[in-house]
Amino acid sequence: MNNLFEIKKLNMHYPVVDGLIGNIKGYVYALNNVDLDIKENEILGLVGESGSGKSTLGNCILKLITPTSGEVYFNNEDILLKSKKELKEFRKKAQLIFQNPYMSLDPRMKIYEILKEPFIVNGIKDKKVIDEKIKKIVELIGMQEEILQRYPHEFSGGQRQRIAIARAIILNPQFVVADEPVSALDVSIQAQIVNLLLDLKKHLNLTMLFISHDLSVVKYISDRIAVMYLGEIVEICAKEELFCNHKHPYTEALLNAVPIVSNECKTKKIILSGDLPSPQNPPKGCKFHTRCPYVMPKCKIEHPELKETTSGHCVRCFLVENNT
Ligand code: SF4
Repeated sequence: MNNLFEIKKLNMHYPVVDGLIGNIKGYVYALNNVDLDIKENEILGLVGESGSGKSTLGNCILKLITPTSGEVYFNNEDILLKSKKELKEFRKKAQLIFQNPYMSLDPRMKIYEILKEPFIVNGIKDKKVIDEKIKKIVELIGMQEEILQRYPHEFSGGQRQRIAIARAIILNPQFVVADEPVSALDVSIQAQIVNLLLDLKKHLNLTMLFISHDLSVVKYISDRIAVMYLGEIVEICAKEELFCNHKHPYTEALLNAVPIVSNECKTKKIILSGDLPSPQNPPKGCKFHTRCPYVMPKCKIEHPELKETTSGHCVRCFLVENNT
């Protein structure tokens, strides 16, 4: 499979400004030298604790925020170098599904207006073309045409998320970032939305970055999974490999926190202790060393690289390097 995205040495360091004087007194190191490929037509799951940098990565690769440095190639073109006009074209092809369907739909607009808006923003005015497309998309998300004359508050959370997904895909994007798209929904509704995303991927040949802290959801939907810790990718591989042959202690600890997932394969039982260190003052050496039960003296001084251990399975840990 070809790569749709190639992300190279991506950094996002937010300055922390002194309130009174306005001097920069430090940085929040949200992303640190992230290298990542997203293959055409795959769903790449991105997991990690809250504050690990997952959403920042999603926002940077859509250029909704401008990273401090790095390269983000989409179809072999660096989107960070694109002009305003070129970015508008890119945004037709790469969209975002928000976490909270209660916040992402304008309560003053009827659903028809909400779904029409992306066409107007992109200069498409032909009413016949717009109406036909809206009709098709409403069918695709499993809803009836009569919703078009209603307002967002008339719908449940799951229905609103269907409408938000419809708006994100109405211009036929190649790529979607789904940022915790089911975490604000009832558990009973989550499976319906995840199945809808899988159907859409199949019908529209979508490529997706699926961000979630919920490993059981990620396991269900993803082809490959990347694990993030304090702004770095620490492990990435195929889904099956991650659940039964993971190699990074942090991945192990995350899996152990989800009994349904961890019971399926015989794994070592690491319990994650303590909180995620501050990204403003990350630990030196291996960023996980303050919580790792296997920490060695070297881990506190040297920073491990992300290395391929077997084909397509990359890990950032000295333990693995010692065993290969
Ligand atoms: Fe643990 Fe050391 Fe591996 Fe980091 S490099 S995960 S501290 S064993």
